[in-house]
This record gives sequence, structure tokens and C-alpha cells, in this order.
Amino acid sequence: MFPSIINKYTSDNSSSGVEGEVGGTAIVMDIGGTKIKLGLVQNNKIVCTTSIDAASSNGLKKNLPVIESTINKMLKQFSINKNEIKGVGISMPGIVDSKQKKVLSIDNKFNDVVEMNLSGWIDNTWQTNLEIENDARCALIGEWQFGKGKDYDNVVLMTIGTGVGSSAVIEGNILRGKHFQAGCLGGHFTVNINGAICNCGNIGCVETEASTWNIERIAKQNAGYASSTLSKQNKIDFENIFNSANEGDELAKELRNTCLDVWSAAAVNLIHAYDPEVLIIGGGVMASADHIIPYIQKKTDEHAWTPWGKVKIEAAENINAAALLGAAYLVFNN
Ligand SMILES: [Zn+2]
Repeated sequence: MFPSIINKYTSDNSSSGVEGEVGGTAIVMDIGGTKIKLGLVQNNKIVCTTSIDAASSNGLKKNLPVIESTINKMLKQFSINKNEIKGVGISMPGIVDSKQKKVLSIDNKFNDVVEMNLSGWIDNTWQTNLEIENDARCALIGEWQFGKGKDYDNVVLMTIGTGVGSSAVIEGNILRGKHFQAGCLGGHFTVNINGAICNCGNIGCVETEASTWNIERIAKQNAGYASSTLSKQNKIDFENIFNSANEGDELAKELRNTCLDVWSAAAVNLIHAYDPEVLIIGGGVMASADHIIPYIQKKTDEHAWTPWGKVKIEAAENINAAALLGAAYLVFNN
């Protein structure tokens, strides 16, 4: 749907933004499976943001006209000329070649993007440069520069939502690897060798066992489904599961507890792989952060091999803003 109102961004996070003027404006896009968030960033602050429905199964190409017109409306509303645009930063799911500015592989969403010349589109439309990066990396950059990772050089992010994403900063460097997939496939660590086949081809991945795209199927396969209050819900997501578990529903409790253990195992794996000082967790499930964070902290304290001390488990400060700010950071700093 075409958004009729572009909201001026009011941050609930007074600490975002850093000292010093950067100058210019970055156009930022956070391409998600259900929503595409669009915004403008100046001086490391989000000036305005809006979101449009993604319909990702139809591909990205069909969304380009509405993306263009929405951004142009924003630029007009805030009286920003084309020569003030420093670049476009895109946060994108999948494996992203940030040097060639290409999406190399994407899991079941926006399949057409692999063939697209995004730099060409950006250049034709706004006569500026593109920075594109994996969405978990963009969110991590945002949290590392402006959020919960601000005081650290070794930070890992895990995002839990439709899928499970991850990314790592090691000794102050964003981990990308030879094929741009280092650090960002934590959602595809095996946590169940007897598990289901994942979209990625692996068996029993973190996100096959405990993320929104598969949780409904897991619930419906359970013998207790018919007698569970979850069977009466329109959809099964983590909000419903945590709420029903709090009300004592047996299946919801079982699903919640399994997911907590899967995410904890993923956290231990991420700690063993990337040696962080802090592990930040973001995504839709953080509505239940009061329950999730202490649980994962206890599990990682017990099970991670870190003789130097304990890794701090933190809820992301503002994961939605983080991806946009991270994409803008790449525009201003590359
Ligand atoms: Zn997988």
C-alpha cells in the first residue's frame, strides 16, 4: 500500500547520534520479508521513516516504483535537493557482496534481487552511490556505533524473528569473510541433528527449530495442538506463544521452553565462534525480553567456555532504528 503519511521520526533513544556534523543526507532502506522500511538520515539521526508492505514473494522489482515515489516524497517534504544526497544504504536479508553491491543468495524472499543491478537503479534514480549490506550486519553496526555495543570492540548480534540472523564485530572490524558469509549464518548453526531440513539445505538449524517461519508447523505437529488455546488463534507467533504460556497453556509452555533452549544454544555457539564481550539480542521476540534475556544469560553463564569472564547478554536498544542507522553509517564512512 502507498503510505499516505510520512512520520517525522521521534526517537525513543536519546543516545542515538554522535558528536560532530557529518553533513548531507543518506537515503536508507531496510528490506524485510513483510515490510520495507524507508527513511532519511542526517548527522547519524533518523530524520523521517515510513514503511510499505513488501509482498516479498512477488520479488523486489515490483516494489521499486513505490519505493522511489515514497523516497521522493520524503525528500520533497524535508526540502532535500539531490545534490545533498550522500548515498543510499540498503539493509538486505541474505548473503550480500558489499564490494560488488550484489545480493549473492537469498532464502525464499525477493528471489529476483540476485539478478538485479541495484547500483544501476540507484544511479539512474538519484544519481548517487549505493552501499548494501546484510541486514543483521547493518543492525549490528547500528547497535555497535549508537546502541548497546557502543562501549565494546567485540560484539555479536543475534536477531530473532521471521528467521534468525547474526553478525559479529571482532577487534573493531566487521566480520565479512572471503565469501561475505562469515558471522551472518548463526541462524543456520545446527542445534538438532534429527531436525527438519531447512530452506538453506542444512538439518535442524536454529531457525528451523525456533523462528516464526516454522513455529506454526511445529505447533500443529504436536499431539497437544487440538487441546491447546493456540489452535484457536488466527496465527501462531511468539507473541501468542509467550502470552498463552503465561496463562498456563501446556503446548505454549513446551514451545516457549524449547525455543528458549534453542536460542541459548545458538548464543553459546556464537560465543564459541566469535569471542564477544557482549551478545546483543534483537527482533520481534524482544517484546518478551524480560523473560528471554535473563534465561539466555543464565544458560550462557553455565555453558559457554569463557575462562576470561562472562559474556554480557543485552537486549538491543532499538533494533529497527539500528538497521537504518547502520546502513547510513556505511554511506557516510565508506
Ligand atoms: Zn538453515
